[in-house]
Amino acid sequence: MSRLEPVGPVIVLSPHLDDAVYSCAHFLSAHPSTTVVTVLAGAPDAFHEGYNSSSTGQSYAPDAVKVRRDEDRTALAFLGATPIWLDLLDSDYVEYRPKANYVDLVRDEISRVLVEMSPATVIAPMGLIHRDHLAVSDASRDLWSRSTATWYLYMDLPYGLAHPRAVSKRLRILRRRVGLVELEEYGGDDVIKQQAMGLYGSQFEPTRRNYREIFDATMKADERYWRVENIG
Ligand SMILES: [Zn+2]
Repeated sequence: MSRLEPVGPVIVLSPHLDDAVYSCAHFLSAHPSTTVVTVLAGAPDAFHEGYNSSSTGQSYAPDAVKVRRDEDRTALAFLGATPIWLDLLDSDYVEYRPKANYVDLVRDEISRVLVEMSPATVIAPMGLIHRDHLAVSDASRDLWSRSTATWYLYMDLPYGLAHPRAVSKRLRILRRRVGLVELEEYGGDDVIKQQAMGLYGSQFEPTRRNYREIFDATMKADERYWRVENIG
């Protein structure tokens, strides 16, 4: 099995303001000039009660997202990565999204960033369980054949550890169109990963509560990556 050793510049696509670190902190820590593009990092200009308000304690959506962006800035700086935040809305704010197919908007925005930044490598979520993760994965899949970058997928954590059958199912679906070469599991310093995850202060406890059985494993387990090949 080969190891993930991508050519730079590298972009990691993150659905929410924490996913790249939960899923790829070992990689980010070993590749300190990576740019993390968080796709669904916007806020409607509205007061809103939902996941973002309850986890941050801020009911004005721009304030809630500011808390989460600040956490992301701190955690990525700790790992030596640089954030870019797109103003698209996560599913907590679904009623504020335009009526158009949201995956199309997500694809167009990611495409715009890739044209601007010309990365040699893009590492995207495989797209597990959460509909926002699936949307970002599906949007990226549409870009594989149009981009000159080499694409890799990461296993979304903690979802992949909590739902191993969802991983096999998603791999089967993705492999209908491309080859996916599994790479060596990617280990790193568990303490650094735990510290980075802990810097998402508003998310750490809710995620630990929701994923009690595998939360420690998420902090300690090796990360999983696949290289996308034979893009038709
Ligand atoms: Zn997420």
